[in-house]
Amino acid sequence: MYTKSKTLFEKAQQVIPGGVNSPVRAFKSVGGTPVFMQHAKGAYMYDVDGNRYIDYINSWGPMIMGHAYEPVVKAIQEYATYSTSFGAPTELEISMAELIVSMVPNIDMVRMVNSGTEACMSALRLARGYTGRNKVIKFEGNYHGHADSFLVSAGSGVATLGIQSVPGVTATVAEDTLSVPYNNLPAVEQLIAEYPEQIAAIIVEPVAGNMGCILPQPGFLEGLRALCDTHGIVFIMDEVMTGFRLAKGGAQELLGVRADIVTFGKIIGGGMPVGAFAGRREIMEHIAPAGKIYQAGTLSGNPIAMIAGYTLLKTLQERPAIYTQLEEKTSQLVAGLRETFGAAGVVYQINHIGSMMSVHFAEYPIVDFSAASGANNELFRRFFHAMLERGVYLPPSAFESWFISHALGQEDIEFTIEAAKASMQAIK
Ligand code: PLP
Repeated sequence: MYTKSKTLFEKAQQVIPGGVNSPVRAFKSVGGTPVFMQHAKGAYMYDVDGNRYIDYINSWGPMIMGHAYEPVVKAIQEYATYSTSFGAPTELEISMAELIVSMVPNIDMVRMVNSGTEACMSALRLARGYTGRNKVIKFEGNYHGHADSFLVSAGSGVATLGIQSVPGVTATVAEDTLSVPYNNLPAVEQLIAEYPEQIAAIIVEPVAGNMGCILPQPGFLEGLRALCDTHGIVFIMDEVMTGFRLAKGGAQELLGVRADIVTFGKIIGGGMPVGAFAGRREIMEHIAPAGKIYQAGTLSGNPIAMIAGYTLLKTLQERPAIYTQLEEKTSQLVAGLRETFGAAGVVYQINHIGSMMSVHFAEYPIVDFSAASGANNELFRRFFHAMLERGVYLPPSAFESWFISHALGQEDIEFTIEAAKASMQAIK
């Protein structure tokens, strides 16, 4: 069933560390051989052995309209003939920045980068340069990319692999990163009191998606906003996952909380390697060459990446009903899974908002990293493989969010629920 994938994985391990170019793809937490993909269309991915999967990862978020979305593919094909990179400004970059500013609340200016990691790393530098302070508060199990400052109590692959402290991140850098449990406002207040006038930024995933999907509890984000205002701290919302996914204006719009700097990735590039950070003019004009805080990129604002992202964002802007439909699809899937797990007699929690969701096999609410870590990972592992065998591709780790795409049809949701029923029967 996975013959070619197995051969390719053996070959890959000879020339690529661990056989993959990003750790979670290696199936380390669920075991088994990662499936090598060949092509994908709409809600489906097809592997090299000819198996079809309904995709609930969607490239970890970007493919909100499904795979090979035709307007994006066409736009890329057309623009590729002009040149794949100029290293000089283009009109398209202005259109892209104007479009983002028109969709996202509380921002006047945008700087394009090449990944979510770069976006968060640059946002932190900007916050430090702007405030003249060094320290950053982040939350356990939140993931902001792999820049040194963020690899302290990080989620996503760092959590999946159970790495406590990352070799190569110096103690001096790690010292400036203060980490507290998600949804714990008093812990943040305590840190601010402990380090007066030293905190440059608080960075948060407004909905956490890197320890499974965890929602902010009422008052949490509002409380962070108020603390930032009182203490002159820059509030960075990492909307790499939630941006353009939870609403066209992201979590800021959906949850009604204002950020000082917001970071983007994933959907903003339409499947190309893109990120961005944005904020009010007064802060953003400190970035070089307008200001002295240096940030640059040979391929930043790349025309192919810009047209892919622009085309996808324009679709989302012009068709707001997409968000209601995504939410309906997610709720329907969640209802079917609840019924399935209930009938199977397993304890479970499903967190969901918009088109993000995740399943933890636990009897208590999943509100932070320690709760997520205590869930039954062994059951998740068996559920993952049972679903994979039945043609449903879930994130290969309980520390990741599932993403629903607009391409997912009614019959796909029903297929998934049936697969979940059969899986629970098989693994009980
Ligand atoms: N921030 C969040 C919330 C993310 O989920 C991710 C990646 O999953 C990143 C930052 C890093 O983005 P990238 O993988 O594009 O560097």
